[in-house]
Parts: sequence; structure tokens; C-alpha cells
Amino acid sequence: MRRKIVVATGNKHKVQELSDLFRTCGMTDVELIPVSQIVGSMDIDETGLTFEENALIKAQAVFDACSLPTIADDSGLCIDVLSGQPGVRSARFGGIQATDAENRDAVRAAMRQHDVIESPARFVCVLCYIDQYRTLLTAGESSGTIVLNDQGSGGFGYDPMFIPEGFNVSYAQMSSEQKNSLSHRARATTSMVEHLARIEDETDRRNHDRLSRAGLLTASIAAVIGRQDVVRSVAVRAIDETDHRRLYETLLQTYLFAGFPVALDALSSVHDVSASWSISHELEPYDVPLFERRGEELCRRVYGQVYERMMQRFDVVSPSMRSWMIIEGYGKTLSRPWLSAIERELCIVCMLAALGRGTQLYSHVRGAIALGAHEAELQECMDTVLELCGPKAYELLSGTYHTLVLRD
Ligand code: IMP
Repeated sequence: MRRKIVVATGNKHKVQELSDLFRTCGMTDVELIPVSQIVGSMDIDETGLTFEENALIKAQAVFDACSLPTIADDSGLCIDVLSGQPGVRSARFGGIQATDAENRDAVRAAMRQHDVIESPARFVCVLCYIDQYRTLLTAGESSGTIVLNDQGSGGFGYDPMFIPEGFNVSYAQMSSEQKNSLSHRARATTSMVEHLARIEDETDRRNHDRLSRAGLLTASIAAVIGRQDVVRSVAVRAIDETDHRRLYETLLQTYLFAGFPVALDALSSVHDVSASWSISHELEPYDVPLFERRGEELCRRVYGQVYERMMQRFDVVSPSMRSWMIIEGYGKTLSRPWLSAIERELCIVCMLAALGRGTQLYSHVRGAIALGAHEAELQECMDTVLELCGPKAYELLSGTYHTLVLRD
């Protein structure tokens, strides 16, 4: 499965341009999806005073709405003789609903007031990427000259008035490939792609250093099928406090799906083999408003588009059950630190496949995908389920996964 990144714009032209740039920069495993495909159209007020602020506002609003890795751009033209204008107001320099031609006319009028027929200028693009772990900003610029008369009819916006440095034709007279090779957006994208590639390396390295993800998946399954020998074999591989805490969290959450005795047995097994299992695992203070906030946030991310519908169903039949799910399940237990939301969800998927719980499994595989789990991660769950539980449980999981992927 290709990694999905939502693009925070309703402008198809921008999504296409960014997709072409990602491909040119060698990032071929990413699929850019317009936000409209996920949450319909969104009206976001670009109230920032800088390109950075606006890119951040847009990325944050879309990330909050759909909980998927999101990228937003803000761009514009800064003209020296106009002290950097139109800047962040580039899209509306000729009025709120101005067309590209009206914006260019407004620039011409402003330049005439300064009695000039051309001026040095630059296009600026800032990209902002947000996922559950990080916010990244990159910028790119392209310098050139703004001229009074339009030249050429390609491109969009201020392209016909902009002669990039080192050329004597405007952006509107260039092919999109040629413009993409030197544009501000291309430069910001190149830098973003470099960052994103580095994040992947870092994540791989971090996962490798720890008690592996596979160990946690194995422990989850072993706990719910009562294979204490396997729980113990994972526990001996936990070598430091981080490993211990992660294993503790993995086993603790089994109580939600298989009951307290299961969690207790598994934790006792770890306790037996791990002489250094001395850290204190006290639960956090019972802070209901905190659990409610944390739980609602996580629940929205896991359930995505179906969240509101599900809450309405609870409200009809049992509003207190809605609170239990948010406060007790998601807020108190599933959003505790040390394991990421995706790791928890993958462990849960393994447990439910092992327990043969089809309906719950469907919901949690969908949750894992909504949180951004890769195909390879779900394949790892399937492999672990096959190894420990055999083909029936494997087929349940792989069938559920493929139904969901085909449905999307
Ligand atoms: P944004 O959608 O808020 O980023 O607005 C950017 C505005 O800046 C666009 O509507 C264009 O008017 C202008 N602009 C940004 N990049 C370009 C470009 O590559 N060519 C021409 N105009 C651009």
C-alpha cells in the first residue's frame, strides 16, 4: 500500500503539481490525496501574517479534521518595489474573489503608482507537513523580474508577468516540466522530500533498537491465547526500562479485549522471568477530564469519518456507554504513553484475530489504516497471527484487511 498524505487544498492544479514534484524528487511510494476526497470542502481562514503561519494554519486544520499525515502549502509573489506585496495576499490582491487576471491588473496598477515598468521580485512557497509525531516546515524561493505586460498564456496566477532569473521568457511561456525544475514550489518540495525520507530512516532505526514491534505483537497474541511460554520468551528480550514499559503497556491493554485474568496472567509471566522488572507501573492519577480530552481526540482519529455517526448511535441507546468508551477505553487505557496509537492498534488487531472476533476486528483494522498503518505493518500482524494461531485466524485477518482495502 502506498503511503497516503492529504493535501490541504481544494485546488486540483496544486495537487497535480505537488504529485509531479514528489515523483520527480524520487518519492514514488507516496499518494497525495486532495482533502476534498476525505472530508469534503473545507473553508480555512488564512489569517496568518507570513507564509509559514498560513501553511501551518491550513495543515493543522486539515490534520485535526482527518487525522492523516497532511501537507499544506502557502505561496505568493513578493515584489521589491511594492515592499514585498502582494505577499500572503497574492490570491486576493485584486479583491476577495478576484480572478488571476484581476490580481495581475491590481499589481500593474500598484506598479504604475511607483512609476516603474518592472521590478525584481520573487515567488515564495512554504510547505508544512504534520503527522501525529511532528511538524515540518520547508521553504523555496525563485527570483526574477515582474514586468507590466503579460507574456504567454500557460500556467496560472502571476505566471505571465514573471520572468525567472537567467531566462527571457515568462513562466507562462514555459512547459510545466521546465517551470517545475526551477520553481519555488519545486525547491520547497525537494527539501520536504529530503526531510520525509530522513524521517523514515530515523523511524526504522528507532524501531530496530527497541524490543521489536514483532515482539509486542507476539506478546499480545500469546497473552490472549494463554501461551505463557511465549510471553516469557518475549519478556527475556526486554533489556531496558523502555522495553519493560512498552511490554507492560502491551499486556495491560489486553484486559480491555480479553478480561483482567488474561492481563494478570501475562504480567505475572513477565514478572517471573524478568529479575530487573522493578519499575513502578502505577496508573496515572484518575483524572477524568484529562481522560475525556485524550480519549475523544484518539477516538476521532481512530474512527475518522464514522466517529460522529457512532456517537449519535450511542446517544440514542446509551449516552453513558459513550462516555465509558471515550473515558475508560480510549482515554484511560489506550492513550497512555509509551506505545504509539498505531502500535496499540496493531497489537489489538492481532489479539482480535487470535480471539476470532470478526466485528471488532473489522473496526480495529479500519482504525489502524485510519491512523496511517502501512500495508507492511498489517502484513507483519498477519504473519504473526499465522505463526501463533494457524490459518483460520490468519484468513480472518487477511480477509478483513482486503475487504477494507478493496472497499476504499
Ligand atoms: P495560496 O493558494 O494561498 O498559496 O495563494 C497563492 C497565490 O499566489 C496564487 O493564487 C497565485 O496568485 C500566486 N502564486 C503562487 N505560486 C504561483 C506560481 O507558481 N505562479 C503564479 N502565481 C503563483
